[in-house]
Amino acid sequence: MYKKSKELFERAQKSIPGGVNSPVRAFKSVGGTPLFMQKAKGAYMYDADGNQYIDYIASWGPMILGHAHEPIVKAIQEKALDSTSFGAPTELEIEMAELILSMAPNVDMIRMVSSGTEACMSAVRLARGYTGRNKIIKFEGHYHGHADSFLVKAGSGVATFNIQTVPGVTAGVANDTLTAAYNDLDAVKKLAAEHKGEIAAIIVEPVAGNMGCILPKAGFHEGLRKLCDEEGIVFIFDEVMTGFRLAPGGAQELLGIKADLVTYGKVIGGGMPVGAFGGKKEIMQHIAPLGNVYQAGTLSGNPIAMIAGFTLLTELKNNPSIYKELEEKTIYLRDGLNEVLKAWGQPYVINQLGSMISIHFSDHAVVDFASAASANNELFKKYFHAMLKRGVYLPPSAFESWFLNNALTYEDLDKTIQATKESLEEL
Ligand code: PLP
Repeated sequence: MYKKSKELFERAQKSIPGGVNSPVRAFKSVGGTPLFMQKAKGAYMYDADGNQYIDYIASWGPMILGHAHEPIVKAIQEKALDSTSFGAPTELEIEMAELILSMAPNVDMIRMVSSGTEACMSAVRLARGYTGRNKIIKFEGHYHGHADSFLVKAGSGVATFNIQTVPGVTAGVANDTLTAAYNDLDAVKKLAAEHKGEIAAIIVEPVAGNMGCILPKAGFHEGLRKLCDEEGIVFIFDEVMTGFRLAPGGAQELLGIKADLVTYGKVIGGGMPVGAFGGKKEIMQHIAPLGNVYQAGTLSGNPIAMIAGFTLLTELKNNPSIYKELEEKTIYLRDGLNEVLKAWGQPYVINQLGSMISIHFSDHAVVDFASAASANNELFKKYFHAMLKRGVYLPPSAFESWFLNNALTYEDLDKTIQATKESLEEL
């Protein structure tokens, strides 16, 4: 069934560390051979052996309207004829910035970069430059990309591979990153009091998606906002996952919280390598060449990347009903999964918001990293493979959210629920 993928994986390991260009793709935590993909269309991916999968990764978020979405493919093809890169400004970059500002709340100015990592790294540098302070607070199990400052108690692959301290990150850098449990406002207040006047920024995934999907408790973000106002701390919403996914204005809009700086990635690029950071003009004008906080990129604002993102965001802006459709599909899936999991009789938790959802095999609520990590992840591995065998491609780790795309049909969702029923019987 996976003959060609196995061959490719053997071959890949000779020239690429671990055979992959991003660790979680290697299936190391769930075991087995990573599947090498050949093509994808709509809600389906096809591997090198020709097997078809219903896709719940959506390239880890970006493909919100499904793969090879025709308007995006066409726009890229047309744009490429005018050159794939200039290294000089273009009108399209202004159109992209204006479009983002029209959708994202509290964003007066935006700077385009090429990944979510760059966006978060740049936002933190800006917060440090603006406040003249060194330390940041992040949350256990939250992932903001692979920049040094963030690889302390991080989620996603760092949690999947249980890496406690990342070699190569200096103690000096790590010491400037303070961590607290997600949803524990008192812990954050304590840190802020212990390090009064030293904290440049609090960076948070507003809805956590890198330890499964975990929702914020009522009042948590409001409390962080208040603390930041009182202490002159820059409040950064990392909306790399949630931006343009949970609502046209992302988690800021959905949760009704104003951040000082916001970072974007994934959906903003329509499947091309794009990130962005933006926010209050008062802070953003410290970025070079207006200010002295340096930040740059040879391919930033790349025309092919911009046209892909611009085409997708335009469609999302013009058809806000997409968000309702996506949410209804996710709730349908959640309810169907609930039914079969309940009948199965073993403990489980489903967390869901908008089109983000995940299952933890746990007998306690999953509200932070500790509760996610103490779920039965051995069972998740078995569930993952049982689903894969039945043509459903879930994230290959319990420390990741599933992302629904709007090309999924109710028939696909029914198949997924039925596959779960059969998989649970097999576990
Ligand atoms: N921030 C969040 C919340 C993410 O989920 C990710 C990636 O998964 C990043 C930042 C880093 O983005 P990228 O992988 O594009 O560098």
